[in-house]
Amino acid sequence: MLKAIFLDRDGTINEEVNYLYEIEKFAFIPGVPEALAQLKKAGYLLLVVTNQAGIARGYYTESDVQLLHSYINQCLFKQSVQIDRFYYCPHHPQGKGKYKKECLCRKPNVGMLERACTDFFIDRKKSFLIGDNQGDILAAKNFGIPSILVRTGHGKSVEKQLEKDYLYCAENLAEAVEWILAKEK
Ligand SMILES: [Mg+2]
Ligand SMILES: [Zn+2]
Repeated sequence: MLKAIFLDRDGTINEEVNYLYEIEKFAFIPGVPEALAQLKKAGYLLLVVTNQAGIARGYYTESDVQLLHSYINQCLFKQSVQIDRFYYCPHHPQGKGKYKKECLCRKPNVGMLERACTDFFIDRKKSFLIGDNQGDILAAKNFGIPSILVRTGHGKSVEKQLEKDYLYCAENLAEAVEWILAKEK
């Protein structure tokens, strides 16, 4: 069985930009590539789970998102680490066409996490979710795994209200990883 880290993308891995899809606007939050490399070294599967309602709203397409995700892995290549899989939800209840949907994959629903568990043999008891927003923390809760809130992105503004729902609140992803790895020892 594999232990996994479910990672939110915007505001957790990269600086929050509203409806990000352009490669030029992508920037890692400082320390993230190194922290991901440490997790990989410790044997974790790295899985991004991201709500991308911008697809449903028609701001960008699925291929824009896929391009950005391959760019992220290209950047991480320098650290000898890769995201093992990117899961994204393209839906939104107020979206357009086929993307207009009350789906089961949009966080706080657990569809993406469940799909990951069919794709990989995941040990939930040894897994964590790291995110910066309510949907992330509640998805982890709904899925029955512990979560870490990061104070980057929207984290600071939801820290108080979610106090009972996350296991730990970290300054950023790098500190969250430090905490996880220290806990293992
Ligand atoms: Mg986020
Ligand atoms: Zn969805």
